[in-house]
Amino acid sequence: MSQLLDNLNPEQLAAVTLPARHALILAGAGSGKTRVLTTRIAWLIQSGFCGPQGILAVTFTNKAAKEMVTRLSAMFPINTRGMWIGTFHGLCNRFLRAHHRDAGLPQLFQILDSGDQLASIKRLLKTLNIDDEKFPPRDLQHFINGQKEAGIRPAAVEAWDDYTRRRVELYVEYEAQCQREAVVDFPELLLRSYELLERNEPIRRHYQARFRHILVDEFQDTNVLQYRWLKLLAGGQGGEGGACLFCVGDDDQSIYRFRGAEIGNMRDFERDFRVTDVIRLEQNYRSQGNILDAANALITNNTKRLGKNLWTDKGAGEPIRVYEAFTDTDEARWIVEEIQSLVRDGMGRADIALLYRSNAQSRVLEHQLFSSGVPYRVYGGLRFFERQEVKHALAYLRLIANPDDDTAFTRVVNFPTRGIGARSLEALQDAARTWNTPLYQTVPHLSGKPGTSLAQFVVLIERLRQETRELPLHEMVDHVIELSGLRAHYKTEKEGQERLENLDELINAAANFSAEVGAGQIPGEQPSETSAVLAEFLAHASLEAGDHQADAGIEAVQLMTVHAAKGLEFDVVFLSGLEEGLFPHENSAQESDGLEEERRLMYVAVTRARQRLYLSFTQSRMLHGQVRYNLRSRFLEEIPEGLTKWLTPPSPRRSFVSEPSTRYYNPGAGKAAAPAMPPPPPQKSRDLGGLRIGQSVNHARFGDGVIVAAEGSGNDARVQVKFAEAGAKWLMLAMAKLTPV
Ligand code: ATP
Ligand code: MG
Repeated sequence: MSQLLDNLNPEQLAAVTLPARHALILAGAGSGKTRVLTTRIAWLIQSGFCGPQGILAVTFTNKAAKEMVTRLSAMFPINTRGMWIGTFHGLCNRFLRAHHRDAGLPQLFQILDSGDQLASIKRLLKTLNIDDEKFPPRDLQHFINGQKEAGIRPAAVEAWDDYTRRRVELYVEYEAQCQREAVVDFPELLLRSYELLERNEPIRRHYQARFRHILVDEFQDTNVLQYRWLKLLAGGQGGEGGACLFCVGDDDQSIYRFRGAEIGNMRDFERDFRVTDVIRLEQNYRSQGNILDAANALITNNTKRLGKNLWTDKGAGEPIRVYEAFTDTDEARWIVEEIQSLVRDGMGRADIALLYRSNAQSRVLEHQLFSSGVPYRVYGGLRFFERQEVKHALAYLRLIANPDDDTAFTRVVNFPTRGIGARSLEALQDAARTWNTPLYQTVPHLSGKPGTSLAQFVVLIERLRQETRELPLHEMVDHVIELSGLRAHYKTEKEGQERLENLDELINAAANFSAEVGAGQIPGEQPSETSAVLAEFLAHASLEAGDHQADAGIEAVQLMTVHAAKGLEFDVVFLSGLEEGLFPHENSAQESDGLEEERRLMYVAVTRARQRLYLSFTQSRMLHGQVRYNLRSRFLEEIPEGLTKWLTPPSPRRSFVSEPSTRYYNPGAGKAAAPAMPPPPPQKSRDLGGLRIGQSVNHARFGDGVIVAAEGSGNDARVQVKFAEAGAKWLMLAMAKLTPV
């Protein structure tokens, strides 16, 4: 027992051994919140205050839940099965399985992930013969989930207009379909558990009596319904008879507000449960001083904080290393070289993490790691070439290269949906089997309705082949993404932004690939035909998608987004892509509080590092299909100079005001006016290949716009065009093919 408490500081000890009351531990990163929570569980059981079956603990990810169980088993021999430890979804699933009959479900109900849910909604609309242009399935999914997450069933939705009333009717139909098919979507897991507890008094009483201690990690990221569920489970809120709620969290690490997480839960918790024990932990045990000081300095730029400061007795440690690369490829190359040298010096690969803001950034890093033979593993997401949208786009390209590729055919024949049903496909497959021909070749021989809709698909592929024959590879990829309808499809998806970024990243990959192929060519030789380059590119993609990821058991460098890194720690952290528009993400400029959420995310990233932190940015980067010249991130400027060491000659931050010839990247340009932006400096007239500032132009993809700024000259000349729909963009004049209108 004493061993259990030996390594705690006085505040941690107080938190671990609090009497049975509700408590809130509000503390910064690395101060031992998760450790306190785990140790408290062990202490409660070992002291005999509570049996394992009296414990319910909620964490945010499966990885974190597993780790908690492992840590507990390491503390003392204990049967962890009696305890309820898991994520909100995991625990609700367990609860509904145990009480399926009372919840009105068959025991073997299936869970729909969000992709399955969407498919189910589409099927519903089709059955009901409803125009999915009027009621886009993604919108409907968003609407239904939003209601469920707020705990609202159809009867309780306040519908003031016809459109909403109609959507509510569809919500009813959707519920009925799910019920018929015995399936439960993610928000339903939580809502149904909540309702069962609320309505069924014997069950509620049973659990309220059973769980004596409910412990919640990462409390700052719970949403409204999750909080209500906890409240119900905890029972008597004054502490009489119910469970004790022990919540730990950090307002500075609240990074899911965009998904409805409610920081107000912290305040409500203090009020609803009359919490008198609010404990703050201020000593950080994770990071060296310089890293911690950087995190502290950074987060003081946020105004909405509950306020706290962290200190460490570890000493300053190494300075934070800053690296400026020319391009994203250079950045990745440098990172991998640095990793190799760290490993040579004895650092374990698993102690090194590569973090990035957006998933799309992993591709360049993965490529470098793989080419250099460094084992790596991507967490909390798929590797680039395995992502759904990338595979879809590749399937179209594969069909252009080889129409007989049945796998590619089946993958996209009805994606995006074009009304080709399962029955038509079955008829086609039967015929193909009978005649022993590939699906594509079978289509023309198929009669009736299935034949017509499938024939249209074949026409689309033929058209794609014709129209892209002469194009360079990256334009071909771009064109295919556009014409196949993939881009439009993901534009309407609620969380499609990331998928769009990945599709754009595929265009970048194609551009890089042709450049490499081109570079390997003998001067004077005819450039390879696009079809040959395409075949090579597809081979490259399948190879990269192949199993490069390190096998289980092999020590591997860890790659993940900053979101996925929450709660984790590593000896060495590389944080790449510190550029305006990327981190902070350009979308953040359009949302109120968006920038503060990005800064909290940056705080999470910095505080993952124990000993060494690398921050890098590039002068230019292929982003969303175009070369961008971004300013380095404002977050770098917010780290005091004395804490950093530049590995490249420190460059002044390019500024709009002092150097009119360089530009200031404005994340909100064209959408929301950024109030702090200085007025544009006068532009000298320069040769813009016959174009001038103020001129209206057209771009094949972005449509009509007006040239508003220019920089550079000759091959390097770039112009900023404010497009009516696509917003402001910087384009390379030599590549953009702008035509005056
Ligand atoms: P985050 O906010 O990032 O989730 P946290 O507050 O949950 O961080 P922990 O992960 O619990 O912090 O702890 C950070 C590190 O500090 C861990 O490696 C933990 O083992 C260590 N640690 C915590 N408390 C102590 C202590 N009293 N003595 C030594 N090490 C400690
Ligand atoms: Mg933690």
